[in-house]
Amino acid sequence: MMYLADYHMHSKYSFDGHEEIHVLCEEAIRKGLKEIAITDHYDMFQDKKYSRELDLVNLYKDIARAKETYKDKLIVRAGIEVGQPQASPDEYRNFLANYELDFIIGSVHNLEDALDVGEYDFSKMDICKVYEHYLDYLIELATSYDFDVMGHITYPMRYAYNQLGSYPDMNLFKERVEALYKLLIHRGKGIEVNASGFFQPMKRSMPDLELVKLYKECGGEIITIGCDGHYLQHIGCAVKEGLEVIKIAGFKTITTFEKRKPIFKDIE
Ligand SMILES: [Zn+2]
Ligand SMILES: [Zn+2]
Repeated sequence: MMYLADYHMHSKYSFDGHEEIHVLCEEAIRKGLKEIAITDHYDMFQDKKYSRELDLVNLYKDIARAKETYKDKLIVRAGIEVGQPQASPDEYRNFLANYELDFIIGSVHNLEDALDVGEYDFSKMDICKVYEHYLDYLIELATSYDFDVMGHITYPMRYAYNQLGSYPDMNLFKERVEALYKLLIHRGKGIEVNASGFFQPMKRSMPDLELVKLYKECGGEIITIGCDGHYLQHIGCAVKEGLEVIKIAGFKTITTFEKRKPIFKDIE
């Protein structure tokens, strides 16, 4: 039996989420998951006027309640998906000091212009240049910030694919992605296989198989799987496809977290 865990999902507390925490838990149980991490968006912005308030107090109250309610059926972890903490390091430090979490995804959604990369018009841009710049941000995040796994490291490619029907050969970026992996491994951090691409036009994970293999070759061990669902139907929906990628890349275990400590679980 595969160990089914979805370590990336959004509740109504995210600006773009919809569901109550307990509804996410019920859905996870219904789909046969053993474990979930609730990872709502906490994005940092250089221009504070774009900041969307996240009700952290009630979010973590609801998660604590769910941990208790479902403890015999489902392991529920208190997580966060922090977006570009380098835009506001003090705010992020303050957050870390005030909340006791199980798991943190470190992501980049916005570069310096306050537009989510997903809102770019790739027909007017050079996707390779955008991705090189995105990698600058990931490398900065990996070098100096606190988190457990790096989120969807090929994020711009999902949107490029949606708009253009293709994305560049990731081998073009192999050297820099390798440097990123080495940094993450050196700092005891991992990556996620973000399975949301399987229910979007690209029909691949972020990163895709080739880059998951590269992570393995670099000596990576910490690897989580997340469907990044913002709607109920996507909770846990592509965990099996994601696990398949991780298995083919040569991993025998996936990683879960409790109080920020990795726990390795046999895939089968
Ligand atoms: Zn994200
Ligand atoms: Zn997300």
